[in-house]
Amino acid sequence: MDLKDHIRGIPDFPKPGILFYDISTLLRHGSAWRTAMARLAEALRPHKPDLLAGIESRGFLVAAPLALELGLGFVMLRKPRKLPGLTIGLNYALEYGTDRIEMQADAVPKGSRVVVLDDLLATGGTMAAGISLLRQAGAEVPCAATLIELTFLGGRSRIDVPFESLVSYD
Ligand code: IMP
Repeated sequence: MDLKDHIRGIPDFPKPGILFYDISTLLRHGSAWRTAMARLAEALRPHKPDLLAGIESRGFLVAAPLALELGLGFVMLRKPRKLPGLTIGLNYALEYGTDRIEMQADAVPKGSRVVVLDDLLATGGTMAAGISLLRQAGAEVPCAATLIELTFLGGRSRIDVPFESLVSYD
């Protein structure tokens, strides 16, 4: 199955001039979603994760079903002020301005192998921040992965761990 048949590009979203890769069509197609999760599960298995972390919000839709498939726990990396209890966070630069992600301070055991997942890698800033935050929490990050990679933006060069993606656009 070619997963690209189930991903559409929507022009001028969220801003004029941006082509937004939309995974809604993949998610609503049972066998395409199942195929994507099975392929990612096979890509992650050799990295022997103890836990999977997903980046809010579409990263949750990748990481949670994969965690079930691999029999692992799932950790949320969230937008600011969403998580209860003691949290740690990291600010990171966007093209214009900054953003922040947070996680619960006790979410990962020290030294555990946590793979980070999101729907898409663009400039790599979000994924790089997720990896740094998990390290700050004491995790080891053996691998990061997304469904889609926009290779023309070169985000992979900002990811200092093995990186897996299922579909790329160049
Ligand atoms: P980066 O930080 O530039 O790599 O941007 C990646 C983040 O922005 C991810 O969390 C994506 O969910 C989101 N994102 C950027 N472009 C797209 C897109 O075309 N489709 C879906 N999500 C996108």
